Amino acid sequence: MLPEIIQTAADLSALNTLALPARAEFLATIHQYDQLLEVIRHPDLAGRRRFVLGGGSNLVLTGDFSGLVIQMALKGRELVSEDEQAWYVAANAGENWHEFVQWTLAQGWPGLENLSLIPGTVGAAPIQNIGAYGLEVSELLDHVEAVDLQVGRRIRFDNKDCVFDYRSSLFKQENWHLSGRYAITRVIFRLPKLWRARTGYGEVVTELAKLGARNPTPQQMSQAICAIRERKLPDPSQIPNAGSFFQNPVVSQELAEALASAHPQLPRYPQPNGRIKLAAGWLIEQAGWKGRNLGPVGMYEQQALVLVNRGGAKSRDVQALTRAVREAVLARFGVNLQPEPVFL
Ligand code: NAP
Repeated sequence: MLPEIIQTAADLSALNTLALPARAEFLATIHQYDQLLEVIRHPDLAGRRRFVLGGGSNLVLTGDFSGLVIQMALKGRELVSEDEQAWYVAANAGENWHEFVQWTLAQGWPGLENLSLIPGTVGAAPIQNIGAYGLEVSELLDHVEAVDLQVGRRIRFDNKDCVFDYRSSLFKQENWHLSGRYAITRVIFRLPKLWRARTGYGEVVTELAKLGARNPTPQQMSQAICAIRERKLPDPSQIPNAGSFFQNPVVSQELAEALASAHPQLPRYPQPNGRIKLAAGWLIEQAGWKGRNLGPVGMYEQQALVLVNRGGAKSRDVQALTRAVREAVLARFGVNLQPEPVFL
């Protein structure tokens, strides 16, 4: 007999923010730590392919999944400890990211405000090292707790073990979410008491000026970020999407200069390693895809980087548009865009 929490032939369409139709042979929604151990040790589920799902906000389902989908819905958050320099705050993997950020701010523990309104769960945040408006979660992450699903043992990854990079980490590089090797159960943040507002991004400055906030508080920072995001990014519950659909390409200085001489408006952001980050959204817009549809999917009119499901899209529609956009950008700029979400 399968554990009670297992659903068979489970509909995944409400569990991915692009709202693509697909079924999982088995779905386990984990509300308690023991349920995770029960599921992974169950003989009838042994040797099955596994996939660990968070909020499904960075995911393209390419078809039905034969195997076990483990949805991490563990809830709970707390102040673990505090010293003179910092607060240490923990949240379980299934906590909604934005609600967690708002809670930390309400408690008087600032730091995460620039990451307000990013969709998804706390457990998914380290996987792609979520970042926005000049802050990456890796800067405020102390350690990650996970379970090694192969042996059913707890494991801790300190910040340095996570090999964080731009929108990437060891978890993503090793495709552990795809191979189902580890499930992140809890994330512990270190929020320094010495706080300063990060206002390096132009849009943030403009928004703060609208609020009349010269020396913004953490709440005002969050308010400004939320206002920008609400204006530019579609709410997945209204218009299904998976956030930024392509990574910002980071290219050599030579290529960036060659492109800039042909396209003087090209936004360029030098990186610490001497390479140049380009804005994928700008390239897509210039290649003619901003606000344009292909069948039931399109690139969003307010932000060309976001692929949206206008209703009833299937995986093949998403894949066709992904191809079309990549080809158009390659033809115009010679830059090969890489999708950001995981394709399952
Ligand atoms: P935008 O303002 O249209 O700018 C386009 C890109 O230029 C951004 O992706 C950003 O890169 C870069 N950029 C802008 N100002 C910069 C500066 N002062 N220094 C360095 N780089 C700069 O950006 P957007 O698409 O609306 O996104 C705004 C922010 O939200 C960005 O930080 C973006 O990454 C973030 N965002 C993240 C996700 C995600 O984590 N999946 C989803 C949506 C938006 P960076 O991406 O490196 O910041």
